[in-house]
Amino acid sequence: MAAATSDTVYLDHAATTPVRPEVAAAMAEAQESAWANPSSPHSAGRRAKQVLEECRERILSLVGGRITGGVRDRLVFTSGATEANRLAILGVASGRSGVFATSARDHTSVRNLRGELAGRGWTVVEPPLASTGRMSPAWTMPPCDRGIVATTLVCGQSGVVEDLARIRAALETRPEVLLHVDATQAVVTEPIGWADLGVATLAFAPHKFAGPRGIGAAVLRGDVVLEPIVPGPQEAGLRGGTEPVVLAVGFAKALELAVAERAAEAVRLAGIRDRFAAALAAAACAHGLACEPMVDAAAASPHILTVALSGVDRQAFTRAADLAGVCCGTGAACASGSSVPAPALVAMGLGSETVAAAVRFSFGRTTTTDDVDRAVQRLMPVLARLGTAAHGTCR
Ligand code: PLP
Repeated sequence: MAAATSDTVYLDHAATTPVRPEVAAAMAEAQESAWANPSSPHSAGRRAKQVLEECRERILSLVGGRITGGVRDRLVFTSGATEANRLAILGVASGRSGVFATSARDHTSVRNLRGELAGRGWTVVEPPLASTGRMSPAWTMPPCDRGIVATTLVCGQSGVVEDLARIRAALETRPEVLLHVDATQAVVTEPIGWADLGVATLAFAPHKFAGPRGIGAAVLRGDVVLEPIVPGPQEAGLRGGTEPVVLAVGFAKALELAVAERAAEAVRLAGIRDRFAAALAAAACAHGLACEPMVDAAAASPHILTVALSGVDRQAFTRAADLAGVCCGTGAACASGSSVPAPALVAMGLGSETVAAAVRFSFGRTTTTDDVDRAVQRLMPVLARLGTAAHGTCR
């Protein structure tokens, strides 16, 4: 299958992904059969409610949540991962104070909470990153009566996969500290047995794995107490607003398919990434530019490749690539177009020139080897032009 739109080669799947046909079909069917307000007491409302609750259970069990027994885990539908991060962290923090830890590898939706929490009396700490792009193993959570450690399973800026088992082990004797995991970039390639990982709260959204935009989920361990951010009777009082049942159907379908295909897709995407990385480096070298991966491929999710093109301004590159018919990014989509360098790359200790030249290519289920070969061909004249300007040297 070709790229997402017309003739464009879309290599920005970490920003968002096209909805897959099976998901679109499931949503079209639900639009006919389950469009009613799930809070309405009449039969149409009850039907929508039943579909919504089935989706909730399917999604919960697909990420390893407990849906039977005494203490069941809960899932709150939100508008996306930004709101899910916000609900899980601010909701738990509400009415208390403590220590909140977030590192440079977390998404802005998590890092933006630093000011709000500090304003409510929380102490905010920033675990340093190791050069691997993971949270430094030497860092420890300061003593506290209550704490939240936020972490990101797959960093959207570097692609680096966090060692959650290590973080969990470090917090094992600290029941007063809750672990929040942002798994938004992780679903395509990482197994998410969140209950096994000792996680208290988890956030993610289906638009990163061929599902719809406009919906996300905060998964809450059964014993976690939190206040709503948007009060209302829906979602067991944890998030007001009429639930988007059709989007929930798309969410559940997309997750089911992503989980079923995960192992094979991770291998396929690694092949695509490696092929693209090698061809891009050769093309850059041919024009006097060094093209270096920013992280060790073995430590990163195969769907994200961040490279530094020596001496090339990342924004000039992405604009020129776009004009040549290749969509790529410079980090988080919401930060693309801004001149702020990716905080995770800075915190890994990469030099400012390297960070200034960092471009993110990301791959998804519609990406083919033909796509990445065409992308490199299209990028040739871009590299030639920028290479002449930069006079880089290849390694
Ligand atoms: N967390 C991570 C790691 C992300 O990469 C993103 C989006 O890029 C988000 C959260 C925010 O997701 P959403 O756009 O669904 O709010």
